[in-house]
Amino acid sequence: MTKTLHIIGGGMAGSEAAWQAANLGIDVVIHEMRPKVKTFAHRTGDLGEMVCSNSFRSDDDEQNAVGLLHWEMRAADGLIMAMADRHRLPAGGALAVDRDPFAQSVTQNLMDHPKITVQHDEITELPAGGHWIIATGPLTSEGLGQAIAQETGRDALAFFDAIAPIVYYDSIDMSKAWMQSRYDKGETEAERTAYLNCPMDRDQYEAFIDALLAADKTEFHEGETANYFDGCLPIEVMAERGRETLRHGPMKPVGLTNPHQPDIKAHAVVQLRRDNALGTLYNIVGFQTKMKYGAQSSVFKMIPGLENASFARLGGIHRNTFLNSPTLLDDQMRLRSRPHIRFAGQITGVEGYVESAAMGLLAGRLAAAEIMGQPLPPVPQDSAMGALIHHITGGAEAKTFQPMNVNFGLFRPVEGLKGGRRGRVHRYKAYTDRAKAAWTDWLATQNMSCAS
Ligand SMILES: Cc1cc2nc3c(=O)[nH]c(=O)nc-3n(C[C@H](O)[C@H](O)[C@H](O)COP(=O)(O)OP(=O)(O)OC[C@H]3O[C@@H](n4cnc5c(N)ncnc54)[C@H](O)[C@@H]3O)c2cc1C
Repeated sequence: MTKTLHIIGGGMAGSEAAWQAANLGIDVVIHEMRPKVKTFAHRTGDLGEMVCSNSFRSDDDEQNAVGLLHWEMRAADGLIMAMADRHRLPAGGALAVDRDPFAQSVTQNLMDHPKITVQHDEITELPAGGHWIIATGPLTSEGLGQAIAQETGRDALAFFDAIAPIVYYDSIDMSKAWMQSRYDKGETEAERTAYLNCPMDRDQYEAFIDALLAADKTEFHEGETANYFDGCLPIEVMAERGRETLRHGPMKPVGLTNPHQPDIKAHAVVQLRRDNALGTLYNIVGFQTKMKYGAQSSVFKMIPGLENASFARLGGIHRNTFLNSPTLLDDQMRLRSRPHIRFAGQITGVEGYVESAAMGLLAGRLAAAEIMGQPLPPVPQDSAMGALIHHITGGAEAKTFQPMNVNFGLFRPVEGLKGGRRGRVHRYKAYTDRAKAAWTDWLATQNMSCAS
């Protein structure tokens, strides 16, 4: 049997899988359909394109599960993390990335790798033999989606996430807005002033909620359900859940002081985060939406400071294709019915750039080890990687399976530590210490080289 690994999809997961397998000595072919075949969300033909937010979220590897995943990927020489670090933008405690140079660097590194070939073709059938990873993401093309559904005997589930709008900086009224990270978090002045804040008083907030509730929204097609993933709720859905919900979510006013009116506490604050290195674009944090375009621009212009805003991109809704992994995949991420095919990335039911890249990293290593005839020990469940793969391939309830972000709720408890909010700092530190040790040990088992 051929020793070449074929990867369908060169997004976050496919790019990382290719890098890992190639670095272990395996010949890899990436089949990426862009730019020949487009998706509605990608703009370029680059590999590893970030389609919406430019954030890899928290970079805190001691107190945050996604920060821990960053740490584990860096320890495994991950390409996605290396390029994210190279193109980092100031964003308080978060890892924000300059998206175009990031994707260009990911692409260049893969193209330059002697073991990797990139073919721009759309795959529409399930491969009959060989070694394959399918990493086609939430926007898997229709032909391949149908082939997968036919094989699995179950419809790939579909639900909707929503995209946040992006505003041109020079259209923002800085006599009303100001730059500050919440609680002035960050070590440098750039970090401490990474966010742009727009304050609202009570009347402005109430009028804004009324407008959100009344706005024209995009209708769902027949057979689609508004089954949102809770971490990515559209703002109008949050407003429907209660008039105060946004004030306790993305519009919370805490940790911020308005220098234009230092004695007046804002009732709510809309935050925008820098979206490119030039500082010309800002995205409205947490403002995913399914309002129609006309409604969006009039509602968002009610935000003080954004009265004359120009939008580089308005928000939208999108499809998300994912498998019922707990029933369909084994603990090596192989399709039970055709074990020569692995799945990786968002299509396995993880959510987010970081989690998708992480599952690509694992799939690449697992596939490489199998091709070399040197199977790996199980991924340690105490690592963030292990917690996530365990959840999607078995830990989750299959009947109610929904895409999952990495979080400490997926980790086994550390014995003898205090529960509740008070013990949280010690508990999270114990989780992350334990995870790092387990992950380091697992990586140390992999002194592999390709059998020639
Ligand atoms: C509109 C939208 C907004 C999102 N916003 C965010 C966000 O703000 N933050 C976040 O963390 N995550 C976000 N996500 C989720 C994001 O897509 C994933 O987190 C991440 O990109 C998934 O990585 P992936 O490698 O699984 O898929 P992708 O990065 O999408 O890569 C899949 C690749 O497969 C290719 N492909 C598809 N079908 C075929 C085929 N048949 N043959 C060949 N190639 C194919 C695609 O062109 C694509 O390049 C968003 C997703 C969408 C769709």
